[in-house]
Amino acid sequence: MPFESYKTSRILVTGGAGFIGSHLCERLLATGAEVVSADNYFTGSRRNIAHLIANPLFEAVRHDVTFPLYIEVDAIFNLACPASPIHYQRDPVQTTKTSVHGAINMLGLAKRLKARIFQASTSEVYGDPLIHPQTEDYWGNVNPIGIRSCYDEGKRCAETLFFDYWRQHGLPIKIARIFNTYGPRMQPNDGRVVSSFIVQALKGEPITVFGDGGQTRSFCYVDDLVEAIMRLMATEEDVTGPINLGNNSEFTIRELAEKVIKLTGSRSKLIFKPLPQDDPRQRQPDLARAKAVLNWEPKVALEDGLKETIAYFKHTLELA
Ligand code: NAD
Ligand code: UDP
Ligand code: UDP
Repeated sequence: MPFESYKTSRILVTGGAGFIGSHLCERLLATGAEVVSADNYFTGSRRNIAHLIANPLFEAVRHDVTFPLYIEVDAIFNLACPASPIHYQRDPVQTTKTSVHGAINMLGLAKRLKARIFQASTSEVYGDPLIHPQTEDYWGNVNPIGIRSCYDEGKRCAETLFFDYWRQHGLPIKIARIFNTYGPRMQPNDGRVVSSFIVQALKGEPITVFGDGGQTRSFCYVDDLVEAIMRLMATEEDVTGPINLGNNSEFTIRELAEKVIKLTGSRSKLIFKPLPQDDPRQRQPDLARAKAVLNWEPKVALEDGLKETIAYFKHTLELA
């Protein structure tokens, strides 16, 4: 097993120029690891990694994971995939290809190298869940033919592929099911609720609440998530996951809107728009497994994380 510690490793991060991927690259570089980002810049940007380019331990490669990649690394973090509904619905066939062909290629690479490989899976594998909060042994309630299916089913199939490479080829795999994560470097126009509300509040525009705003989400600050991902990758070889990662403090979308208005000091008012198709009513991770296996719990309170994110968007919007 070549991956022993981050410090002495060369690590591939697919989707390294994205929101979570760029924070992960930064964190890996801080351990002394060599980091290669492979990204096709579909939803990520070079601006997210501009501050890393001067680091001799960092390399950014333009690559689409639906094509094979031949490179020598000790470990792989597979994050490449558009994550927000408006982005993954723009070219849904490519979204499925990215999850499925991307997983096959990265698993093939890991198999050749005998390298451990992490998969960024998602709470969306639970669909519109019928149990609450969601534990990892829940199989989910996913519509296979809806507009979210390219993402949900793509990620479910990727999990299947990971487990089959583990069973069939003995590949060391690590799967995290990531719940709603927010923080600096989210894109201002990605349509996700945290970025949308902050941008609307800062511009003094109406805050677009979908449905009655009574649906819930549990928001994890990106630093907490990256810490958990780092710990998961470093676990014993027999730890495969899936492990839920997120924050279990649950808020209604209306509560989120009110917090954003308060923290930005905005005069924006709420307006109500129709709820999108298949929009889950309630979502909250059960984090017992993450706590037991990783000795990890999220630390950053929503208000503190929102303050950091608001500061980032203020800066970005002034630049734009
Ligand atoms: P993001 O869109 O900012 O990052 C995804 C990155 O993947 C982008 O840089 C994009 O350019 C790149 N990419 C997309 N298709 C690619 C392809 N075919 N080849 C190479 N690169 C490609 O999104 P994010 O929020 O940073 O999400 C990162 C990962 O975490 C994704 O796999 C996503 O599904 C997962 N995830 C995120 C969340 C969340 O709340 N942010 C929740 C659950 C799971
Ligand atoms: N692959 C890759 N890089 C490598 C090795 C494999 O991108 O270093 C891709 C290649 O496209 C292959 C896929 O991973 O089709 C799956 O590889 P695997 O060895 O599992 O199966 P194969 O299709 O080669 O029998
Ligand atoms: N949402 C909203 N207004 C927006 C964007 C999203 O009310 O401008 C709602 C959306 O309907 C969902 C929740 O906020 O109920 C979270 O949406 P997001 O797209 O951020 O994440 P996901 O649905 O994937 O959890």
